[in-house]
Amino acid sequence: MEISFPTDSDGFLSQECPSCDQPFKVVFGEGSEKPISFCPYCGFGGRGCWWTREQADYMSAAATNIVLGPELKKLERSLKGSFGNLLKIDVKSNLPDVPTVPIDVNGDFEIRSFRCCNETVKIEPHEKVFCVICGQEVDLKMSDSKKVFLSHKGVDKEFVIDFKDTLEILGYEPWIDEDAMPAGTPLERGLLKGMHDSCGVVFFITPSFKDDGYLETEINYAIQEKRIKGNKFAIITLQFADDNGNVGEIPELIKTYVWKKPRTHLHALREVIRALPIQVGAVDWREGIDDVVSPPRMKSKARELSNEAKTILLEASAGDGMIMHNRYMGGEQIQANGKSLIPENNQRTIALWVGGLEDLIRRRYIKDIGQKREVFEVTREGYEAADEIEEGKKGDAGVTKGAANLS
Ligand SMILES: [Zn+2]
Ligand SMILES: [Zn+2]
Repeated sequence: MEISFPTDSDGFLSQECPSCDQPFKVVFGEGSEKPISFCPYCGFGGRGCWWTREQADYMSAAATNIVLGPELKKLERSLKGSFGNLLKIDVKSNLPDVPTVPIDVNGDFEIRSFRCCNETVKIEPHEKVFCVICGQEVDLKMSDSKKVFLSHKGVDKEFVIDFKDTLEILGYEPWIDEDAMPAGTPLERGLLKGMHDSCGVVFFITPSFKDDGYLETEINYAIQEKRIKGNKFAIITLQFADDNGNVGEIPELIKTYVWKKPRTHLHALREVIRALPIQVGAVDWREGIDDVVSPPRMKSKARELSNEAKTILLEASAGDGMIMHNRYMGGEQIQANGKSLIPENNQRTIALWVGGLEDLIRRRYIKDIGQKREVFEVTREGYEAADEIEEGKKGDAGVTKGAANLS
Protein backbone atom coordinates (compact mmCIF):
# COMPACT_ATOMS: atom_id res chain seq x y z
CA MET A 1 0.00 0.00 0.00
CA GLU A 2 1.33 3.41 -0.83
CA ILE A 3 0.08 6.74 0.37
CA SER A 4 1.63 9.81 -1.13
CA PHE A 5 1.50 13.39 -0.02
CA PRO A 6 2.03 16.39 -2.22
CA THR A 7 5.07 18.46 -1.25
CA ASP A 8 5.52 22.21 -1.24
CA SER A 9 6.91 23.90 -4.35
CA ASP A 10 10.51 23.18 -3.25
CA GLY A 11 9.83 19.48 -2.78
CA PHE A 12 9.62 19.55 1.02
CA LEU A 13 7.05 17.72 3.14
CA SER A 14 5.87 18.95 6.53
CA GLN A 15 6.72 17.05 9.69
CA GLU A 16 5.97 17.88 13.26
CA CYS A 17 7.66 17.16 16.57
CA PRO A 18 5.41 15.16 18.92
CA SER A 19 7.20 16.73 21.87
CA CYS A 20 7.32 20.46 21.14
CA ASP A 21 4.67 20.47 18.35
CA GLN A 22 6.83 22.67 16.12
CA PRO A 23 6.76 22.07 12.37
CA PHE A 24 9.72 21.47 10.11
CA LYS A 25 10.06 20.09 6.59
CA VAL A 26 12.14 17.40 5.00
CA VAL A 27 12.76 16.03 1.52
CA PHE A 28 12.25 12.32 1.07
CA GLY A 29 14.58 10.41 -1.22
CA GLU A 30 17.41 12.93 -1.00
CA GLY A 31 20.28 13.44 1.43
CA SER A 32 20.83 10.98 4.25
CA GLU A 33 19.55 7.43 3.87
CA LYS A 34 18.88 7.19 7.58
CA PRO A 35 15.46 8.02 9.01
CA ILE A 36 14.56 11.29 10.69
CA SER A 37 15.43 10.69 14.33
CA PHE A 38 15.58 14.05 16.10
CA CYS A 39 13.54 17.21 16.36
CA PRO A 40 15.61 20.10 14.99
CA TYR A 41 14.29 22.49 17.66
CA CYS A 42 14.10 20.60 20.96
CA GLY A 43 16.29 17.60 20.17
CA PHE A 44 13.54 15.09 21.01
CA GLY A 45 14.50 11.66 19.67
CA GLY A 46 12.21 9.15 18.01
CA ARG A 47 11.40 7.38 14.75
CA GLY A 48 8.25 7.25 12.68
CA CYS A 49 6.66 9.81 14.97
CA TRP A 50 7.05 12.89 12.84
CA TRP A 51 3.81 12.95 10.88
CA THR A 52 1.64 16.00 11.34
CA ARG A 53 -1.82 15.44 12.79
CA GLU A 54 -3.40 15.93 9.36
CA GLN A 55 -1.05 13.45 7.75
CA ALA A 56 -1.63 10.89 10.49
CA ASP A 57 -5.43 11.24 10.25
CA TYR A 58 -5.29 10.96 6.51
CA MET A 59 -3.09 7.87 6.64
CA SER A 60 -5.20 5.95 9.12
CA ALA A 61 -8.41 6.77 7.26
CA ALA A 62 -6.90 5.91 3.90
CA ALA A 63 -5.43 2.70 5.26
CA THR A 64 -8.75 1.58 6.71
CA ASN A 65 -10.47 2.28 3.45
CA ILE A 66 -7.93 0.67 1.21
CA VAL A 67 -7.34 -2.43 3.30
CA LEU A 68 -10.78 -3.01 4.81
CA GLY A 69 -13.00 -1.55 2.12
CA PRO A 70 -12.89 -4.43 -0.39
CA GLU A 71 -13.07 -7.03 2.40
CA LEU A 72 -16.21 -5.50 3.82
CA LYS A 73 -17.76 -5.30 0.38
CA LYS A 74 -17.07 -9.01 -0.14
CA LEU A 75 -18.50 -9.82 3.27
CA GLU A 76 -21.54 -7.72 2.52
CA ARG A 77 -22.14 -9.58 -0.74
CA SER A 78 -21.62 -13.05 0.68
CA LEU A 79 -23.87 -12.34 3.62
CA LYS A 80 -26.58 -11.10 1.30
CA GLY A 81 -26.16 -14.14 -0.94
CA SER A 82 -26.43 -16.74 1.78
CA PHE A 83 -29.28 -15.29 3.72
CA GLY A 84 -31.34 -13.92 0.91
CA ASN A 85 -34.04 -11.67 2.18
CA LEU A 86 -34.26 -13.28 5.58
CA LEU A 87 -31.67 -11.09 7.16
CA LYS A 88 -30.75 -7.52 6.51
CA ILE A 89 -27.22 -6.59 7.41
CA ASP A 90 -25.83 -3.15 7.07
CA VAL A 91 -22.07 -3.15 6.84
CA LYS A 92 -21.60 -0.06 4.77
CA SER A 93 -21.61 2.67 7.38
CA ASN A 94 -18.49 1.75 9.37
CA LEU A 95 -15.85 3.10 7.01
CA PRO A 96 -14.37 6.46 8.05
CA ASP A 97 -14.49 9.24 5.52
CA VAL A 98 -11.12 9.89 3.98
CA PRO A 99 -10.18 13.52 4.60
CA THR A 100 -8.72 15.47 1.75
CA VAL A 101 -4.98 15.05 1.22
CA PRO A 102 -3.10 17.57 3.41
CA ILE A 103 -1.62 20.22 1.16
CA ASP A 104 1.83 21.46 1.98
CA VAL A 105 2.09 25.22 1.75
CA ASN A 106 5.21 27.32 1.70
CA GLY A 107 5.52 28.81 5.15
CA ASP A 108 8.06 31.08 6.75
CA PHE A 109 10.83 28.52 6.69
CA GLU A 110 14.54 28.69 5.97
CA ILE A 111 16.43 25.95 4.18
CA ARG A 112 19.31 24.59 6.26
CA SER A 113 21.55 21.66 5.62
CA PHE A 114 23.29 19.48 8.16
CA ARG A 115 26.73 18.75 6.83
CA CYS A 116 27.29 15.98 9.38
CA CYS A 117 24.64 13.84 7.70
CA ASN A 118 24.17 15.59 4.33
CA GLU A 119 20.54 16.28 5.13
CA THR A 120 18.60 19.35 4.04
CA VAL A 121 15.56 20.59 5.94
CA LYS A 122 13.28 23.59 6.10
CA ILE A 123 12.95 25.03 9.58
CA GLU A 124 11.69 28.14 11.28
CA PRO A 125 14.55 30.55 11.97
CA HIS A 126 16.59 29.38 14.98
CA GLU A 127 20.22 30.05 15.86
CA LYS A 128 20.89 26.64 17.29
CA VAL A 129 19.33 23.49 15.92
CA PHE A 130 19.80 19.75 16.14
CA CYS A 131 20.65 17.58 13.16
CA VAL A 132 17.48 15.64 12.38
CA ILE A 133 19.50 12.51 11.62
CA CYS A 134 22.26 12.29 14.26
CA GLY A 135 20.99 14.77 16.84
CA GLN A 136 24.21 16.78 16.92
CA GLU A 137 23.67 20.39 17.95
CA VAL A 138 24.64 22.89 15.26
CA ASP A 139 25.22 26.57 15.86
CA LEU A 140 24.18 28.18 12.61
CA LYS A 141 26.18 31.29 13.41
CA MET A 142 29.36 29.22 13.55
CA SER A 143 29.29 28.63 9.86
CA ASP A 144 31.90 26.42 8.25
CA SER A 145 30.55 27.07 4.80
CA LYS A 146 33.36 28.30 2.62
CA LYS A 147 32.10 28.31 -0.92
CA VAL A 148 31.78 31.54 -2.85
CA PHE A 149 28.71 32.08 -5.01
CA LEU A 150 29.26 34.01 -8.22
CA SER A 151 25.91 35.42 -9.27
CA HIS A 152 25.57 36.59 -12.84
CA LYS A 153 23.25 37.09 -15.71
CA GLY A 154 23.38 34.57 -18.51
CA VAL A 155 25.06 36.85 -21.03
CA ASP A 156 27.99 37.51 -18.70
CA LYS A 157 28.75 33.88 -18.13
CA GLU A 158 32.11 33.65 -19.89
CA PHE A 159 33.40 36.63 -18.03
CA VAL A 160 32.29 35.15 -14.71
CA ILE A 161 33.81 31.76 -15.56
CA ASP A 162 37.10 33.63 -15.91
CA PHE A 163 36.78 34.82 -12.32
CA LYS A 164 35.73 31.39 -11.20
CA ASP A 165 38.79 29.71 -12.73
CA THR A 166 41.07 32.30 -11.17
CA LEU A 167 39.54 32.02 -7.70
CA GLU A 168 39.77 28.25 -7.95
CA ILE A 169 43.47 28.28 -8.69
CA LEU A 170 43.94 30.58 -5.70
CA GLY A 171 42.35 27.94 -3.50
CA TYR A 172 38.77 29.19 -3.14
CA GLU A 173 35.67 27.15 -3.87
CA PRO A 174 33.65 29.35 -6.21
CA TRP A 175 30.43 28.16 -7.81
CA ILE A 176 27.88 29.48 -10.22
CA ASP A 177 24.22 28.53 -10.27
CA GLU A 178 24.64 25.65 -12.71
CA ASP A 179 27.00 23.91 -10.27
CA ALA A 180 24.37 23.90 -7.55
CA MET A 181 21.84 22.01 -9.59
CA PRO A 182 22.37 18.29 -9.78
CA ALA A 183 19.89 17.03 -12.35
CA GLY A 184 16.37 17.16 -11.03
CA THR A 185 16.94 19.64 -8.21
CA PRO A 186 14.41 22.45 -8.35
CA LEU A 187 16.24 25.67 -9.12
CA GLU A 188 15.36 27.50 -5.95
CA ARG A 189 16.25 24.67 -3.60
CA GLY A 190 19.61 24.28 -5.27
CA LEU A 191 20.24 27.99 -4.96
CA LEU A 192 19.23 28.09 -1.33
CA LYS A 193 21.39 25.16 -0.38
CA GLY A 194 24.30 26.58 -2.33
CA MET A 195 23.92 29.93 -0.61
CA HIS A 196 23.83 28.16 2.72
CA ASP A 197 27.11 26.40 1.90
CA SER A 198 28.74 29.73 1.03
CA CYS A 199 30.58 32.41 2.95
CA GLY A 200 29.86 35.07 0.42
CA VAL A 201 28.17 36.01 -2.79
CA VAL A 202 29.55 38.19 -5.56
CA PHE A 203 26.99 39.99 -7.73
CA PHE A 204 28.43 40.83 -11.12
CA ILE A 205 26.63 43.89 -12.42
CA THR A 206 27.75 44.48 -15.99
CA PRO A 207 26.56 47.19 -18.38
CA SER A 208 24.14 44.68 -19.89
CA PHE A 209 22.42 44.33 -16.55
CA LYS A 210 19.05 45.96 -15.98
CA ASP A 211 17.33 45.56 -12.64
CA ASP A 212 14.23 43.80 -13.84
CA GLY A 213 13.92 41.57 -10.81
CA TYR A 214 16.13 38.98 -12.42
CA LEU A 215 18.34 38.54 -9.37
CA GLU A 216 15.62 39.03 -6.81
CA THR A 217 15.57 35.47 -5.45
CA GLU A 218 19.33 35.32 -5.21
CA ILE A 219 19.52 38.67 -3.46
CA ASN A 220 16.80 37.68 -1.02
CA TYR A 221 18.58 34.45 -0.15
CA ALA A 222 21.86 36.32 0.24
CA ILE A 223 20.33 38.84 2.61
CA GLN A 224 18.82 35.99 4.60
CA GLU A 225 22.25 34.34 4.90
CA LYS A 226 23.82 37.61 5.91
CA ARG A 227 21.25 38.02 8.67
CA ILE A 228 22.06 34.59 10.09
CA LYS A 229 25.82 34.45 9.57
CA GLY A 230 26.71 38.08 10.20
CA ASN A 231 30.42 38.68 9.62
CA LYS A 232 30.82 35.19 8.27
CA PHE A 233 28.97 36.06 5.12
CA ALA A 234 29.89 38.77 2.63
CA ILE A 235 27.71 40.38 0.01
CA ILE A 236 30.01 41.78 -2.63
CA THR A 237 28.61 43.79 -5.51
CA LEU A 238 30.85 44.70 -8.41
CA GLN A 239 29.63 47.27 -10.89
CA PHE A 240 31.56 47.06 -14.14
CA ALA A 241 31.72 49.86 -16.67
CA ASP A 242 32.25 49.45 -20.41
CA ASP A 243 34.66 51.55 -22.48
CA ASN A 244 32.15 54.36 -22.72
CA GLY A 245 31.55 54.43 -18.99
CA ASN A 246 28.14 52.78 -19.17
CA VAL A 247 27.26 50.77 -16.10
CA GLY A 248 24.55 48.33 -15.12
CA GLU A 249 21.95 49.31 -12.60
CA ILE A 250 22.55 48.16 -9.00
CA PRO A 251 19.42 46.31 -7.87
CA GLU A 252 17.49 48.23 -5.20
CA LEU A 253 17.68 45.36 -2.72
CA ILE A 254 21.48 45.41 -2.48
CA LYS A 255 21.93 49.15 -2.55
CA THR A 256 22.10 49.12 1.22
CA TYR A 257 25.27 47.02 1.01
CA VAL A 258 28.61 48.34 -0.15
CA TRP A 259 29.39 48.04 -3.83
CA LYS A 260 32.59 48.67 -5.73
CA LYS A 261 33.24 50.02 -9.18
CA PRO A 262 36.44 48.22 -10.15
CA ARG A 263 38.68 49.86 -12.76
CA THR A 264 40.04 46.57 -14.07
CA HIS A 265 39.28 42.89 -13.68
CA LEU A 266 42.31 42.48 -11.43
CA HIS A 267 41.00 45.27 -9.27
CA ALA A 268 37.69 43.43 -9.09
CA LEU A 269 39.47 40.24 -8.06
CA ARG A 270 41.30 42.12 -5.29
CA GLU A 271 38.02 43.50 -3.99
CA VAL A 272 36.53 40.01 -3.88
CA ILE A 273 39.51 38.52 -2.05
CA ARG A 274 39.60 41.43 0.38
CA ALA A 275 35.89 41.30 1.18
CA LEU A 276 35.56 37.55 1.73
CA PRO A 277 35.59 36.39 5.35
CA ILE A 278 37.91 33.51 4.48
CA GLN A 279 41.56 33.42 3.45
CA VAL A 280 43.56 30.80 1.67
CA GLY A 281 46.61 29.12 3.17
CA ALA A 282 50.19 30.32 3.55
CA VAL A 283 52.43 30.35 0.50
CA ASP A 284 54.47 27.17 0.30
CA TRP A 285 56.04 24.78 -2.15
CA ARG A 286 53.37 22.77 -3.86
CA GLU A 287 53.45 19.01 -3.97
CA GLY A 288 54.55 17.39 -7.20
CA ILE A 289 56.59 20.37 -8.34
CA ASP A 290 58.36 18.22 -10.94
CA ASP A 291 55.85 19.38 -13.51
CA VAL A 292 56.85 23.00 -13.10
CA VAL A 293 59.19 24.36 -15.77
CA SER A 294 62.08 25.23 -13.48
CA PRO A 295 61.56 23.22 -10.35
CA PRO A 296 62.69 24.93 -7.17
CA ARG A 297 64.61 22.68 -4.80
CA MET A 298 62.73 21.06 -1.99
CA LYS A 299 63.13 23.17 1.07
CA SER A 300 64.96 20.86 3.40
CA LYS A 301 67.57 21.68 5.97
CA ALA A 302 69.05 18.22 5.90
CA ARG A 303 69.60 18.47 2.17
CA GLU A 304 71.67 21.61 2.53
CA LEU A 305 74.29 19.71 4.50
CA SER A 306 77.64 19.07 2.86
CA ASN A 307 78.30 15.56 1.63
CA GLU A 308 80.84 15.12 4.43
CA ALA A 309 78.34 16.16 7.09
CA LYS A 310 75.74 13.80 5.62
CA THR A 311 78.17 10.90 5.58
CA ILE A 312 79.12 11.44 9.24
CA LEU A 313 75.47 11.66 10.26
CA LEU A 314 74.37 8.64 8.25
CA GLU A 315 77.20 6.44 9.50
CA ALA A 316 76.62 7.43 13.11
CA SER A 317 72.87 6.84 12.78
CA ALA A 318 73.45 3.46 11.18
CA GLY A 319 75.83 2.47 13.99
CA ASP A 320 75.59 3.16 17.70
CA GLY A 321 74.92 6.86 17.30
CA MET A 322 78.41 7.84 18.48
CA ILE A 323 81.03 9.88 16.65
CA MET A 324 84.70 10.10 17.69
CA HIS A 325 86.92 12.97 16.68
CA ASN A 326 90.60 12.31 17.40
CA ARG A 327 93.53 14.61 16.88
CA TYR A 328 96.95 13.11 16.79
CA MET A 329 100.43 14.03 15.73
CA GLY A 330 100.33 14.78 12.01
CA GLY A 331 96.57 14.44 11.47
CA GLU A 332 92.95 14.04 12.58
CA GLN A 333 90.36 11.34 12.23
CA ILE A 334 86.56 11.14 12.52
CA GLN A 335 85.12 7.73 13.28
CA ALA A 336 81.58 6.44 13.32
CA ASN A 337 79.96 3.03 12.88
CA GLY A 338 83.42 1.45 13.17
CA LYS A 339 84.74 3.34 10.15
CA SER A 340 87.37 6.01 9.77
CA LEU A 341 85.70 8.62 7.65
CA ILE A 342 88.45 11.05 6.62
CA PRO A 343 89.93 9.37 3.54
CA GLU A 344 93.19 11.30 3.18
CA ASN A 345 95.53 12.85 5.62
CA ASN A 346 95.88 16.24 3.99
CA GLN A 347 94.87 19.52 5.51
CA ARG A 348 92.30 20.40 2.87
CA THR A 349 90.43 17.11 3.21
CA ILE A 350 90.58 17.24 7.00
CA ALA A 351 89.17 20.77 6.92
CA LEU A 352 86.19 19.61 4.84
CA TRP A 353 85.33 16.77 7.22
CA VAL A 354 85.86 18.76 10.42
CA GLY A 355 83.70 21.47 8.84
CA GLY A 356 80.99 18.87 8.27
CA LEU A 357 81.23 17.82 11.91
CA GLU A 358 80.88 21.42 13.06
CA ASP A 359 77.92 21.91 10.77
CA LEU A 360 76.19 19.01 12.51
CA ILE A 361 76.95 20.47 15.95
CA ARG A 362 75.63 23.88 14.90
CA ARG A 363 72.37 22.34 13.71
CA ARG A 364 72.12 20.28 16.92
CA TYR A 365 72.05 17.07 14.94
CA ILE A 366 74.80 15.81 17.20
CA LYS A 367 75.87 16.88 20.66
CA ASP A 368 79.23 16.93 22.40
CA ILE A 369 78.91 14.57 25.32
CA GLY A 370 82.42 14.86 26.77
CA GLN A 371 82.69 18.65 26.59
CA LYS A 372 86.08 18.10 24.94
CA ARG A 373 84.83 18.03 21.37
CA GLU A 374 85.98 14.45 21.07
CA VAL A 375 82.89 12.32 21.57
CA PHE A 376 79.50 13.15 20.04
CA GLU A 377 76.10 11.60 20.08
CA VAL A 378 73.33 11.84 17.44
CA THR A 379 70.31 13.78 18.74
CA ARG A 380 66.65 13.18 17.97
CA GLU A 381 66.79 15.92 15.36
CA GLY A 382 69.87 14.25 13.94
CA TYR A 383 68.11 10.93 13.50
CA GLU A 384 65.19 12.69 11.84
CA ALA A 385 67.57 14.45 9.46
CA ALA A 386 69.28 11.14 8.71
CA ASP A 387 65.92 9.61 7.84
CA GLU A 388 65.16 12.54 5.58
CA ILE A 389 68.49 12.12 3.78
CA GLU A 390 67.81 8.40 3.33
CA GLU A 391 64.40 9.25 1.89
CA GLY A 392 65.95 11.78 -0.47
CA LYS A 393 68.54 9.28 -1.63
CA LYS A 394 65.85 7.05 -3.07
CA GLY A 395 64.89 9.66 -5.61
CA ASP A 396 68.30 11.25 -5.94
CA ALA A 397 71.17 8.80 -6.06
CA GLY A 398 74.52 10.47 -5.66
CA VAL A 399 73.65 12.79 -2.81
CA THR A 400 75.83 10.74 -0.52
CA LYS A 401 78.56 10.11 -3.02
CA GLY A 402 81.11 10.56 -0.24
CA ALA A 403 79.78 7.59 1.64
CA ALA A 404 79.81 5.40 -1.43
CA ASN A 405 83.43 6.18 -2.08
CA LEU A 406 84.37 5.32 1.44
CA SER A 407 82.87 1.91 1.84
ZN1 LIG B 1 10.62 19.23 19.27
ZN1 LIG C 1 23.93 14.81 11.58
